[in-house]
Amino acid sequence: MKCRKCGGAAVLELRRHNAAFCSPHFIEFFDKQVAEAIHAHRMFTREETVLVAVSGGKDSLGLWDTLIEAGYRTAGLYLDLGIYDYSKESRDKCEAFAAARRQTLHVERVEEAVGAPIPEVQKVTRRPTCSACGLSKRYLMNRAALAHGYAAYCHENLFVRAGRREENRQATIRHAHAALAYGQDDAMALALAGFNIGMIEHDRAAAREAFEAALALSPSSAFTYFWGSSVAWAGEAERAIEWAKRALRLSPFDPWSYFAWSALSVAFFQQAGYDDAANAARKSIQGNPGFSISHMLLAGALAKLGSIDEAKAAASRVLALHPRFSIGEWCAAIDPAPAIAAPLTEALRVAGLPD
Ligand SMILES: [Zn+2]
Repeated sequence: MKCRKCGGAAVLELRRHNAAFCSPHFIEFFDKQVAEAIHAHRMFTREETVLVAVSGGKDSLGLWDTLIEAGYRTAGLYLDLGIYDYSKESRDKCEAFAAARRQTLHVERVEEAVGAPIPEVQKVTRRPTCSACGLSKRYLMNRAALAHGYAAYCHENLFVRAGRREENRQATIRHAHAALAYGQDDAMALALAGFNIGMIEHDRAAAREAFEAALALSPSSAFTYFWGSSVAWAGEAERAIEWAKRALRLSPFDPWSYFAWSALSVAFFQQAGYDDAANAARKSIQGNPGFSISHMLLAGALAKLGSIDEAKAAASRVLALHPRFSIGEWCAAIDPAPAIAAPLTEALRVAGLPD
């Protein structure tokens, strides 16, 4: 057997391609096949980060190596299936590979995600191991970006509502960027990335871009409009009203509907429509009575309307839900546009909330 390219001794025969190759020419052939497949199927560009699911075996690590060599921005995802020493050895191989090439490797344990390691899952389902394993793997690979989006939102809540700890701020930003990088084909992941990047990193342009990308993928995604309506805090009142109303039309009984109502309240407040702002805040409270922000918005709108007793009652509910609330800390965390921050701060003081 001779190499098709150089005529030297071949190490590998590829019957499908009716060819044989020496070692260096096989690698060259393989790299070219990968490049052609990416191009032909328009899989991704060099501006995106590719999350490469790796098992520790030669196929996936070989592919990862080729992508790195071809100049793609990558990160690895290793799913620990919990199959005793086999999983430990595979993980070690992935970690060594990633460390040698200075790549990020995300490790997710199937046991944590689906409740049991693969050998246990197999006993329960009584189906062949490969079927339980394949299903779990596909599920976890597809939700990796979305999981980062939700993780970002959890840290966002911890940062804003539980003492403004720097580690939570950084985790919000880290997870939001992972959702953005790996979720280029996932509207929900992009919407969550946009929300967290806008609210916590205060990069409103990047947030807008993420929402626009999500809508380009899925133009009738109520989820995107719900989270996107948070542009209200950036002072984009008109867009916020349009997106919030569209979200509520697409999904009127959505569990996130209170998000759209609170965004409407912010936007109406900015436009000095304090009656509308108070009504939207009340709708938001109906949707989720435990969301302190809606009570804060109600307090602000009522203070502007001169209903001081009612405003104070709303303010006391803010403090009941969020005992350490202060206007200054809230503004520092979210950095609302000056057109909102200035009048809202003044109104909240009148309602009796602490500076
Ligand atoms: Zn050759």
